[in-house]
This record gives sequence, structure tokens and C-alpha cells, in this order.
Amino acid sequence: MSKEEITFNGCNELVSRFEAVIKKPVTKKSSVYYTGVDLGTACVVLAVLDEDYQPVAGAYRYADVVRDGMVVDYIGAIRIVRELKEELEEKLGTELIYASAAIPPGTDSLDGGAIKNVVQGAGFEITALLDEPTAANAVLKIKNGAVVDIGGGTTGISILKDGKVVYVADEPTGGTHFSLVVSGAYQMPFAEAEAYKRNEKNHRELLPVLKPVVEKVASIISRHIKDYDVDEIYLVGGTCCLDGIEKIIEKQTGIRTRKPLNPMFVTPLGIAFSCNQEEMA
Ligand code: ATP
Repeated sequence: MSKEEITFNGCNELVSRFEAVIKKPVTKKSSVYYTGVDLGTACVVLAVLDEDYQPVAGAYRYADVVRDGMVVDYIGAIRIVRELKEELEEKLGTELIYASAAIPPGTDSLDGGAIKNVVQGAGFEITALLDEPTAANAVLKIKNGAVVDIGGGTTGISILKDGKVVYVADEPTGGTHFSLVVSGAYQMPFAEAEAYKRNEKNHRELLPVLKPVVEKVASIISRHIKDYDVDEIYLVGGTCCLDGIEKIIEKQTGIRTRKPLNPMFVTPLGIAFSCNQEEMA
């Protein structure tokens, strides 16, 4: 098995353990807890790690408080992060103090401050604010290739060479657009279409309906990576939960495409990995 294969299996194992602790938190006491807060367009996720950076708890909620990386409902965002924090504190029987967060590439000067304020407003000490592709790669540990994060509002592309991010881009096409396509095709209200799309039982039926929008995402990926030597694409972000999306992207781009077991939890776990005990300036 290649080194990259072992790392990829490690990522899958970690995500599986995280899914397990969302259902059943590990209540054995830790001297410190590290929380990753992923404030997304579609979903807010909190991932909690123990003193050894092992997953012990997690929670998430679908919400409409951020659009394309910008906080559009500041009070709502604070309330949701605080509620999820309290829910996890109760389950773990401890106070969660330290947190880190992430922002889509390129939005730093615009909204990094707002995201930091939301995390602090919810009662955390914020210890790190990193960009999403860097966070995802803390789990994937890719040395060379492209990490493509298809979230709710945007698709983030980052290209790695010798373990360093050499190019990043963020384009406004994501899962929300997939739901709009479902809503149009099935004459369903958006919220219903969103839930229908997330139900894995419907994925087989939906794939042909969603193929054009997946191909659009693939064309965005191809455009951004064309000047780089990319042999592998790694998919993360909730939209990549769609069964078969990787095959369409692989066919369209002509590049080997892989995705972890639950691509939605890679970035939140990576954010938590960057958390420490030193408050940011
Ligand atoms: P962004 O990164 O754009 O700010 P986000 O962080 O909220 O958004 P994610 O949490 O990675 O994005 O993904 C949310 C998207 O994933 C939503 O559009 C949601 O509908 C989609 N999604 C989640 N689960 C599934 C699933 N099982 N099948 C299909 N799509 C899914």
C-alpha cells in the first residue's frame, strides 16, 4: 500500500470515529479539549478533540447564517454556536474553552473578523483562524494534488505541491445550486428539495438530474488546475456526499478523483486539529 493510501485510510478512520462520537460522545475526562468551529453556508459543525487530539464529541446544525463565507446573520450565528457548545458541554460534563475556526480562501480581509467575533461571542477563546483548504489538508495530509471542497455556497480549490498550498480559489457554485436544480426538476419548495437531495436513498435517482451541475463544478475545477501538474483530486465538503459525484468529476476532468467516507466532516476535524491553548492576538 502506498504512503498516500495509508494516509487516506487514516483520514477515513478518523472521520468514522468522529461520526461515532457525534452519536455517542467519549465522556472519559481529558485535561483539555480542543474545538473546531466550521461556520458554513449550509451547516454549522463543531468538532471536539481531547488532549491527544482524538475525537470525543461533535454536533452540527443546518443554518442560514453564513453565505459564501460571509456572516449574514451575526446574532443567529452566535446563538447557534453557543447552543451547540452548550449541548456538547452537557454531554461531556465539562466547559469547552478553546476553539479555532476557518474561512474560505480569499475572504480573510472581508470576514475573518466577523467569524472570530462569532466564535468569541459564543463564549470561546479563539486560538486560530485558518483557511478551509489548509484545515482540510490537516486531515487529508496530501503532498501533491488538488483538494476540492464543495460546500453549500461555494467550491474551494487548493493545489498542493510538496505539501504546500501553491494556489487557492473559491467559486460561487455549491450544494445550494444542486438543491435549486432539484427544486426546479421536481417542482418542490427549496427546503423540501434540500432534504430530498440529502437523503442518500434518493442519490441514484438524482445523479442524472444533477449531472449537468456536477459537470459545471468539474469545469470550474479543470479551469483552475489547468496550469498545474495535478495527478489526483481529493473531494471534501458536504456536497461530495452525493453518491457517484466523484465518478462524474473524474470522467470530466480526466484526473483520478478520490473522496473520503464522509467528506462533510474533513474540514471541521482539520479546524479542530489547529486548535491550541493560546488565545489569538
Ligand atoms: P461553504 O463551505 O460553502 O460555506 P458549508 O461549510 O455549509 O458551506 P458543508 O457543510 O461542507 O458546506 O456542506 C453543506 C452542503 O452539503 C449542503 O448544500 C448540503 O445540502 C450538502 N449535503 C450534506 N449532506 C449531503 C448528502 N448526504 N447528500 C448530498 N448533499 C449533502
